[in-house]
Amino acid sequence: MASVSELLKFRCTGCGNCCKDPLLPLTDADVRRISERTGDDPVDIVRFIDRNAIDMDDEPESFALLRQGKRVMILRHEGGGCRYLGDDDRCSIYGARPLGCRIFPFDPRFDKKGKITRLKLIQATDCLYELDGENDPDQIRKLHERYEAANAAYQEKVAAWNQQQKARKRSGRAAQTARDYLAFLGLLA
Ligand code: SF4
Ligand code: SF4
Repeated sequence: MASVSELLKFRCTGCGNCCKDPLLPLTDADVRRISERTGDDPVDIVRFIDRNAIDMDDEPESFALLRQGKRVMILRHEGGGCRYLGDDDRCSIYGARPLGCRIFPFDPRFDKKGKITRLKLIQATDCLYELDGENDPDQIRKLHERYEAANAAYQEKVAAWNQQQKARKRSGRAAQTARDYLAFLGLLA
């Protein structure tokens, strides 16, 4: 296994594979940022998938209870990849891209002082990287802190929504729709 210092030399070659294969869970903040940047309707930015379509059994708190069942909100793919991947294999919304795209491919662990104690590369696709680059561990830590905070804030909203839906079901009503969920997140005008 490569060491932390070796992997910190990771350099993206821009092959675009991470924007084609993996399905990317989103937070409401991701969707809002993309919608503000592109003008796209949040309904068109996302897709809702079940546990058979994504390996997230270890993150049940990311599943929203919708009329069609428990679903994860992901970035919509079109034509074999992310809808924002350009013909040149570059991201067309780079400054507004989801935090999940920004942390890729690093999967770090930190000690209490913020030092990286373990670093792995996320194995979500055939990443055609080179090890002749340079990455700042402080930047990786700050980005992961931001990513974790955004996920935690989103999961609180998922939990509140799920409570509402369970209450509806207890009173004999069906859970609400995906569109209702987007409205609950404040993403629909
Ligand atoms: S938003 Fe950009 S970086 Fe993220 S998957 Fe799509 S094209 Fe790739
Ligand atoms: S798969 Fe790896 S090398 Fe290819 S664009 Fe993504 S991060 Fe860069």
